[in-house]
Amino acid sequence: MRKFTSKTLLIATHNSGKLEEIADLLGDFGITVVGAAELDLPEPHETGTSFVENARIKAHAAAKATGLPALSDDSGIEIDGLDGAPGVYTADWAETPSGRDFVLAMTRAHDELVARGAPKPWTARFCCTFVLAWPDGHDEVFEGRMEGQIVWPMRGGHGHGYDPIFQPKGFAQTFGEMDRWQKNRISHRADAFRKLIAVFEHD
Ligand code: IMP
Repeated sequence: MRKFTSKTLLIATHNSGKLEEIADLLGDFGITVVGAAELDLPEPHETGTSFVENARIKAHAAAKATGLPALSDDSGIEIDGLDGAPGVYTADWAETPSGRDFVLAMTRAHDELVARGAPKPWTARFCCTFVLAWPDGHDEVFEGRMEGQIVWPMRGGHGHGYDPIFQPKGFAQTFGEMDRWQKNRISHRADAFRKLIAVFEHD
């Protein structure tokens, strides 16, 4: 695995929440992070058909545009009874002319499972992929996941996205019923973070 030896890392996201989360994590390693929005970078189209492909598109576009190593992430939920949908289209299922509506997206997931007569438990997983790309075209990929099941009705007012209908394996609560601290210890993103950290550790 190629190690990260620079002082500055570009985070290829326009999402300030993601940027903060990653900056917190990397603070311990003395790495300065800079966001894509600060550098006015355009957001590339996510035309891939997998999380890795989309994360690669974002990381390589940012590294090429700036000459800095760039880290991107892509995430979503795969529902087995829907043949892995919404997958890379997880955010798209929430799109409406007036912004994102995740109640709509969760209702669609539930209604399609019922319409297909998918047998319970409705197994699913959250996935998170990080790609660290260098300006010379090299990259390293780190994938995290959390297995669980889709439950209905929605439960819990914490979190975001599909959290209220996802009950992680081995837990009685949904992600939406867990506080941030609890969720962040076991989530797909935490799993991917644990693997990513190896790239910043030096002997
Ligand atoms: P992206 O990674 O920014 O492309 O976003 C993917 C979508 O996946 C988000 O809009 C959320 O709807 C969903 N998602 C990713 N991680 C989580 C999570 O931890 N909880 C709930 N929804 C999530």
